[in-house]
Amino acid sequence: MRVAQIGSGTPEIAVVAGIHGDEPCGVRAIERLLDERPTVERPVKLVVANEKALERQVRFVDVDLNRAFPGGPNAGTHEGELAHELVGELEGCLTFSMHSTQSHADPFAIVNSVTETATDLVPQLPVAAMVETSNFAEGRLFSEIETIEVECGLQGSETAAQNADRLTRAFLTAVEALPGDTVRRDLPVYRLTDVIGKNRADTYEVFVDNFTEVEPGDPFAAADGSTQVASDSFYPVLMSPNGYRDVFGYAAEKIDVLTTTPTAD
Ligand SMILES: [Zn+2]
Repeated sequence: MRVAQIGSGTPEIAVVAGIHGDEPCGVRAIERLLDERPTVERPVKLVVANEKALERQVRFVDVDLNRAFPGGPNAGTHEGELAHELVGELEGCLTFSMHSTQSHADPFAIVNSVTETATDLVPQLPVAAMVETSNFAEGRLFSEIETIEVECGLQGSETAAQNADRLTRAFLTAVEALPGDTVRRDLPVYRLTDVIGKNRADTYEVFVDNFTEVEPGDPFAAADGSTQVASDSFYPVLMSPNGYRDVFGYAAEKIDVLTTTPTAD
């Protein structure tokens, strides 16, 4: 784990990259901040988490770090022990953690629950949606640390790296670490309701687009040509043919649209 800081004092804000070693976009954003060292109005902690997995360009070495929290000093796995160290490092920091996916190019935010902080900050980020994962938070960083996760785009793409940079700057501006203004936008909010499993097969297909409603009766995925049909309507989130070993992705419901309200001043 690599830890750095810009600005002086004890940080209450942190930016984290490289929770997954095959998602380099956030690391680029952090390296750029370290190169440019912008003048900040609040100190910011910068963390590159799973250096060992990043070096090997794999999601994890032993176990998925974002399912390993809180971990422990004697967890017996690289990520279990790293999770524990990371919690110690991020204690008391509102944390911004960058990821990328194989399922969706447009950035979106993931939160444990729709808190006042999330409602205030996430509409100021260049994201198309906010996803609440409360039912599926076990082992994730935000089960231990107040965290806004962002999916920056497609894994390994140049666009994801550029998005990571824009998202980080918007976050740091929204929390008033960087000077300037953000743009508030209307933001749909989704809550994950189900995991969409997949059976072991040689070929997987997904027929639907993420964040676009699937109607009852619609075929949405197939494993070795065997089609799965929706029994109820849902919004697919993080759905991709080969993104995860055991699941296609998640089903979500749309629970809200946050609209911009004129400020009182
Ligand atoms: Zn990730």
